[in-house]
Amino acid sequence: MRVSDTLYIDPVCYMGCNPQESEIYTDYEGERYYFCDRKCKEKFLADPSRYIKPKSWWDRWLDKHIKANEKEFGPKGPECHTKLMGPPGSKC
Ligand SMILES: [Zn+2]
Repeated sequence: MRVSDTLYIDPVCYMGCNPQESEIYTDYEGERYYFCDRKCKEKFLADPSRYIKPKSWWDRWLDKHIKANEKEFGPKGPECHTKLMGPPGSKC
C-alpha cells in the first residue's frame, strides 16, 4: 500500500517499507505492493484478497500513526523496519 514515495506498507504484516531500498514487491490489480520479506510476498500472492481490505479502523489508526511519524521524522519518513512499528529488528 502506497503511503508516500518513500513509504509503503507491507499489506501482510503492516511493516513500513522504503521502496528505494526494497526489491521485494508485486503489482496486483494496478497497485504496487512492497513487502519486508519474501515470506510476506508469498503469503500475499497465495491469497491477495485476504490482505486487501476496505478501510477499517485499523487503516484509519495507521493513517494517523503515519502522519504523526512524518511530523516527527520529516517527509522522508522513518527508516524501513525500524521506527514505524515496534523495536528495531521486529519480525513479522
Ligand atoms: Zn512483512
